[in-house]
Order: sequence, then structure tokens, then C-alpha cells
Amino acid sequence: MPLPEAFDYAEPDGMELAVGDQVAAPLGPRLLRGVVVGLREATGGNRPLKPVDRRLDEPPLPANTLEFVQWAARYTVDNPGQVLAIALRGARAPKPRPVRLVRPTGAQPARSTPARTRVLEAAGQPAPAAVLAQAAGVSAGVVRGLIDEGVLEVFEIIPEASFDAPDLSRPGSALNASQAAAAGLLNEMLDEGGFNVALLDGVTGSGKTEVYLETAAHALAMDPMAQVLILLPEIALTQAVIGRVAARFGVQPGEWHSEVAPPARRRVWEAVAAGRCRIVVGARSALFLPFANLKLIVVDEEHDGSFKQEEGFIYQGRDLAVVRGKIEQAAVLLASATPSLETLRNAETGRYRWLRLSSRHGVAQLPQIELVDLRSTPPASGCWLSPPLVQAIGETLARGEQTLLFLNRRGYAPLVLCRACGERMTAPDTDSWLVEHRYSGRLVCHLTGFSMPKPERCPHCGAQESLVSIGPGVERVEEEARQLFPDARIAVFSSDTMFDAREARRLVEAMTAGEIDVLVATQAAAKGHNFPMLTLVGVVDADLGLRGGDLRAAERTFQLLAQATGRAGRRDRPGKALLQTYAPEHAVMQALQAQDRDAFVAAEMEERELAKLPPFGRLAAVIASGPDLVQLEAFMREMAQVAPNAGGVEVYGPADAPLALVRGRRRKRFLVRADRGVDLSAYMATWRARVKPPAAIRVAIDVDPYSFL
Ligand code: ADP
Repeated sequence: MPLPEAFDYAEPDGMELAVGDQVAAPLGPRLLRGVVVGLREATGGNRPLKPVDRRLDEPPLPANTLEFVQWAARYTVDNPGQVLAIALRGARAPKPRPVRLVRPTGAQPARSTPARTRVLEAAGQPAPAAVLAQAAGVSAGVVRGLIDEGVLEVFEIIPEASFDAPDLSRPGSALNASQAAAAGLLNEMLDEGGFNVALLDGVTGSGKTEVYLETAAHALAMDPMAQVLILLPEIALTQAVIGRVAARFGVQPGEWHSEVAPPARRRVWEAVAAGRCRIVVGARSALFLPFANLKLIVVDEEHDGSFKQEEGFIYQGRDLAVVRGKIEQAAVLLASATPSLETLRNAETGRYRWLRLSSRHGVAQLPQIELVDLRSTPPASGCWLSPPLVQAIGETLARGEQTLLFLNRRGYAPLVLCRACGERMTAPDTDSWLVEHRYSGRLVCHLTGFSMPKPERCPHCGAQESLVSIGPGVERVEEEARQLFPDARIAVFSSDTMFDAREARRLVEAMTAGEIDVLVATQAAAKGHNFPMLTLVGVVDADLGLRGGDLRAAERTFQLLAQATGRAGRRDRPGKALLQTYAPEHAVMQALQAQDRDAFVAAEMEERELAKLPPFGRLAAVIASGPDLVQLEAFMREMAQVAPNAGGVEVYGPADAPLALVRGRRRKRFLVRADRGVDLSAYMATWRARVKPPAAIRVAIDVDPYSFL
């Protein structure tokens, strides 16, 4: 529970509790799961403590995991109970259900028949009764008769994933010279032992994954109990990496993300705690698993904004990975083709080791990047693909190669408006446009999940057939591509056309196998993947991320487009990327075209340094929301008045949040900027403690914010 601190309980005689033990303890009228975080002698008598009810027969939380939970809660100015709940997610999941199997007892049947003999012959391996009957070609009654007679017996087992030890004798890929040099330095870092961080900074397709699999192999070989955690920003990417890990080590790694079914989650959790599961591939929350002996954490695509969890417990997974590494005295390897400025700064100042891979593996070349100026070569009216891009797609199809059309916008159209009265369709009680989805025929709010069928008449003025779709989403680009290239095999890859991880894997496999000619995709497909026949990337709206920009808009756009264009030409065929833009002179577009990341980073760093923004300063945000504007404004004024005075800290606000209304709640924000040396978490905690928000007002603190909505 989101409790701000641990509660005291008495330890019943003889229970012999230890720190980390999971227990049942009373809270009010209920018995709840808790974890022992400390033990001390009772100083005697002010008030009697309630006793712990019992110790649960479950793995204790390792001391390091507990320390990490407490550290994370303090840093994020959140309640330790909330973080602990995440660390216990696997322990709280339902146990895998036992299966009932039958096996021979050794007793002889009183009466022997051919059917019974066949059953006994087939019963060498324990099996469910129905399976045994089928294998022996007999009716279920025959098996039941043998059970009743005591010739066969029924027993229950809980199926366990084996999590076999990785096979370290399998050879990895033969590394090229620069890969081998990087791998060698990383092995040295592991040999030194203890906490170290390295940045593996390699262009797309340079073989970063190959290198970190070697590093993982080295870590696993150094210590027969060593565990390795590989973190990825997207579920779709975990699927691809699980395949590569399985191929490299001959075993399935533990898989951990929101779509893993609860019983499987529980198995992974317990196997990680017991040290049986040695490799975990997962999304950010895998950081909170109870590792017994973690030696290496890999954060792949470390720059990716998806490592930031924005709801509930707000944290930056990449940053917490470094903290976990420190607590575990483990090595941390951050990999990216476009590292975050935060990480680059740490590499520049020598805090992190910096390993660069500057070319693609083998004959593969980085794609040639061209800017398509939409002012001089606009698409036809009502269309989104410009003549140069259409021509390039045609040529790519003619060569039998694949195209990726990248547009970071789900659905068909981001806005529906009424031609008659100008009404823009918005979600009720929320400041955000409804996005049209043609597949489902609905208008959807991407913020709250609200959806409704697309109405026939304008709900505002009642005009018939007046609603028009404005702007493109992936579905609309797909429609245009189908009209232009009716014979091409075209598919859409976006988080709402893929229902689950399996569907994502199927699309990735189809694309890899060359069964798709044109893939229209949001960022879900634009990162990390290797599609051997993909030679053309068309970025439909390169300017999208620059609009309504926040501090990281340019950096993020550069990273995303470098990733997306980096999908092209990853094998022997040269790749090309066309960026459609209205601002070809913009620094981001120029840097992408020139493939000059360093110049872009240098310019961006200079701006951040002048403004003392991250990585040269620190930020935190307060977001307060409530149903009543007057009450919220009064609360924000009160908060502003009690903001602590501290050197090197500036508080901006209160201001309306850009999303000023969500689900009927008004939203307002403060932004806090601090110099690097300031303990911003302590500052925020002090501030927070000075106000007591009314029950209707929620206050969230976001340390190191990435979203400024
Ligand atoms: P990155 O992670 O840097 O984008 P990958 O590790 O995915 O790069 O490598 C890109 C492609 O090149 C993959 O298909 C990979 O299997 C291949 N590759 C990279 N290095 C080697 C190598 N040393 N031997 C064989 N194939 C390699």
C-alpha cells in the first residue's frame, strides 16, 4: 500500500524473523502482506505493538532489492509501499495451477485385459489420465478402473519452467575488429568487478547486440551463479532479443513485462529470487525483480523515452538501472546509437566508459539520407506521400525490396472536425482531440482510452455528413499506399493493431521473412529491429516531434528519426531514407542528413548548458489535479507560498498544464529547476510535507520529468 513509512510490529516468540521476510501482518481489520525492513529491540512500553501474524512460505526479498526499493522511493519522492508493491508483483501473482498426472504404483491388476496392458505399457512417463487413455487407444473408463484398483495413482505437480543453465560452450558470432575491441574492454571492466558503467555507443546496425551478448556470456562464465538483466524499452523489442538470447545460450531467458501472464510471472520471480533464472529479458519493471546475484545490467536503446514510467510510481528506468547496479556492485552497460544527452555527458566527463562502434557490420552501409522539402514538392491534395517518396517506393518495390513508412501517429486521423460549424471533436471532460480509427470505426481518446462510434451527424450543430478527418495517422497512410500500389503487400504496425506480444512477434517475423512489402509503422516498429530486405525508409512527417516542443523535443526527434532511418540497408543492399519536412533548414534535419550526430549534440549541449537545463541542471515537476478549479487554484497558491527557500533552486508556476483538463479534473503544474549539486529529492520531499492537499486534490511529483503535459 502507498504507506509513507514502515509500521512497527512485535515479533512473536520463536518466529525468528529476518530482514526481507515476507509476512502477514494486521492493518486495521485486515491481514496484509508485508516485508520486514528492520528489526530492533523494543525500548519498552509506550504502547503495545500488534504482533506479526505469520511468516509467509515464500522467498524473502534479498537485502539489495530492499535497499533498492527504499532508495528509489526516496529519490522519486514516492511512498516506499508503492515501490515495494512493484517489487512484489511476481510474488503476489497466483501460483501456477497444479496438474494431475497418473503413474503406476507397481501393483498388478487383478484382471488383465489387452486394453489394460496397453495402458500399463504407455504409463512409463507420468501423464494426465486423458492423455494416457488416448496414447493407449482406450476409453477413459479403463484408466479410471486401474486407478480405482490402485494399479495407477493420481498425483499433483506444479509445472515449473526449467530455466536451465545457459550453455556457455556455444560460440557467439565472430566479432569484427571494432566489436572485438569493445567486447574486450567490457570484459576487462567485468574482470575488475564491482560497480562500473559503460556506454556502448554504436551506429544502428553496428552490432551492439552481438557485443552485449558477448559481455553477458563473459559475466555468466565468471560466476556460476551470476545473473544478467537485459532491459528493453518496448515489448516488441523484448521479443526479438529473447530470440537472439535463446539462439546464443540455448535456453529461454526469463521474460518480464506487462503482458506476461501472472502464473508465468510468478515462476520468473521465484526463479530469479532462487538464482535459478540467470538471464532475464524485460521491460523497465524487471529492475525490481529480487535478483540473488546480479552481475550485469544491459539497458538497450538507453535513450528511449519509454524507460520513463509516467503513471503511478513515476521513475526513469535507465537511471534506476544505474542505481541498482551500484547497490548490487554490478556492471551496467548502456547501449544506443543515439545516446541521451544525460548519458553522453557522463561519458564525456569520464564517469562512464565510452566505447564507440562507428560503422555497420560487414558490408552494410549507413543509409543515405535525403530531405524532401514539402514546400516545393508537396503531396497531391488530400494525400501525404510526396512525389519523390512515391517514386522511391515504386523503385524499391520493383527491386523486390521492402519499405518502411514511418509516422508516429496511431489511427486514421488525429482530428475530426465539422465543416458546417467548425466543432472539433474532443473527449468529454478532457482537453484532447478524438483520434479517428477506421479499423474499429471509432473515435478514440489516446489519453484516457475513451471511445465512441463515429457519429453520422455533428453532435454540436446536427449537420449531416459534415465531419471531416484532418491529418494523417498510420491507417490513412496505409490507405494511400494501397491506392498507389494495389499489388503490394502492405501492413500496419502500431500498438493498437497489435493486440499482444505474440501478434507483434508475428508481424516482425513476417517482415523479416520478406512477406510484407510496405510496412506503415509508428515507433513501435521503428527501433531496434533487423529487417534484411528493408532498403527504404520514408518519414511521412519529420517535423511532428518538433511541434509544441519541450526541452527534449529536438533531441527526441533526432533520436527517433535516426533510429527509424537506421532500419534501412542493414545487410548487403544499400539503404536510403527520405524525410518529408517543411523545415529542411532546421538543425535536426541538417544533422540527420549530414549524419553528424556529434555536431548536433555539441550544439544542443551548449544550449542546455546556457539554460542550466539537464544534464547541466536538474528538473522536477509538481502536477496537481482536482475537480474544482477554484479549490485547485487556492491549493496551488498555498503550495507556492510554502515552497522552501534554497540556494540554486528556482520554482516556476503555478501554471495551467498544457493538458488542462483530463477526465473532468483540472490540472496545474510547478516546474522546479535546480543546480546539479542540489538534493532535489530532499527539496521536493520537504515541500510536499508542508502542505496537506484537500481530499479531492491529487499531487504527483515527477523527478527528472520527460513529459511536460
Ligand atoms: P545493433 O544492435 O548495433 O543495431 P545488431 O547487433 O542488431 O546491431 O547487428 C546488426 C546486424 O548485423 C544483425 O543482423 C547482426 O546479426 C549482424 N551482425 C552484427 N555483427 C555481426 C558479426 N560479428 N557477425 C555476424 N553478424 C553480425
